[in-house]
Amino acid sequence: MPDLSRLCIHTITTKPWGIEETVENYAAAGVGGITVWRQTLEGRDPKKVGELIRAAGLTTVSLCRGGFFVADSAAARHAAIADNLRAIDEAAALGTPLIVLLCGASPDVPLAEGRRQIQSGIEAILPHAAANGIRLAVEPLHPMYADNRSAINTLKQANDLCAVVASPWLGVTFDVYHLWWDPDLETEIRRCGEGGWLHAFHICDWLTPTIDLLNDRGIMGEGCIPIRQIKGWVQEAGFDGFDEVEIFSQRHWAREQGEFLQDIVAAYQSLHA
Ligand code: ZN
Repeated sequence: MPDLSRLCIHTITTKPWGIEETVENYAAAGVGGITVWRQTLEGRDPKKVGELIRAAGLTTVSLCRGGFFVADSAAARHAAIADNLRAIDEAAALGTPLIVLLCGASPDVPLAEGRRQIQSGIEAILPHAAANGIRLAVEPLHPMYADNRSAINTLKQANDLCAVVASPWLGVTFDVYHLWWDPDLETEIRRCGEGGWLHAFHICDWLTPTIDLLNDRGIMGEGCIPIRQIKGWVQEAGFDGFDEVEIFSQRHWAREQGEFLQDIVAAYQSLHA
């Protein structure tokens, strides 16, 4: 069997499966890692889920996701910080060293103000992250989400934030879906590596046409993202972690998930052929 030890899959990718089924099927397919989405943990003891994952021989690459720091009321911002502190506790119980941060945005908050709120939210939770040995990784999102999901939309903005906050516990989650279009990508990837901030690498593909802004991602090879070229840049920048497959897709979720998983593994193998 070809080497899948650096292949990680996000639990949301095969959303119809519960955590037990997910772990069993990923392990049987030879997948090396899993990124756990918080909704997968609802009603579960994260410590027990972590044990289940380790017993199956999988590595828990990260917990997805914290963030959403932006709001037009102080009460909502405080609630977000409290929720992020809980996410750090969950990550520690699960036994993963990384939390992906989707930083947040609101149509009621100007982008510049939103970015200030993101920075102060991160600074508020960093001590608790450091105390638990958990790194936080800001994921810049495609600008089509600048209204309500993230005011951090380019790798440059994420790098700038890491430079200003200057904590060994803060870095970047790089997702090809969000960043592939950026003309400054190669330069900013190099800068991200030099800063020691490149913590995670997410892959999937961009479909034409994209019929749903959130839930119409493709399997690698179905779309137009030059994943191989981008991965080359990321490796040159010193990243040697997992390739994390993160696909939100009504089309693929409607399929038999075992077949979808086989397609993901095959696509990953042809990416490395
Ligand atoms: Zn991602």
